Amino acid sequence: MNVIFHTTTAISVAVLLTDTKRIEQSTTSRNVIWTSIFAFTVGHISHGALDYIPHCYPVNSKLDAIIGLTMILTTTWLTNKRYRLIMGLSFLGCIFPDLVDLSPGIINKQLGLSLPTIDKIFPWHFHDYSGSIYTDNCNNSTLNHILLLLTIGVVCWCRRTDLKTMFNKSV
Ligand SMILES: [Zn+2]
Repeated sequence: MNVIFHTTTAISVAVLLTDTKRIEQSTTSRNVIWTSIFAFTVGHISHGALDYIPHCYPVNSKLDAIIGLTMILTTTWLTNKRYRLIMGLSFLGCIFPDLVDLSPGIINKQLGLSLPTIDKIFPWHFHDYSGSIYTDNCNNSTLNHILLLLTIGVVCWCRRTDLKTMFNKSV
């Protein structure tokens, strides 16, 4: 799936798992560290699920990488310092499989380099298990993208108090 869908998912994963009240009452960073590890793990799992469902690539790969990276940097910067590790590791978990399996090939192609590439590790990137659609019929994909964005919207709405706290830089 396009990187921007994974990075948008990462925001909802971080918000879904972060109990800001509990973290603010805590005197140690243990809660933040565990939530960050959990966010990385759930992000990673979400990547597998999203790559497994049928999908086309509505955004051109170069633009996708640029927007995805900009989203990661901007959102992490906008996040309150206390929650930055959670947000950062959620992003990392959500894009990690692509970083490992796909980024050397993309960098080689875009920059004309010849970095060593390895066989794909993650099963959802294998031809047999990937939901990549290789025809022009992207109706299923569009529906899946819409359902994903709606789910992210619902999660952020239901967790809006934590979402606001995570992005409130004045506390
Ligand atoms: Zn992937």
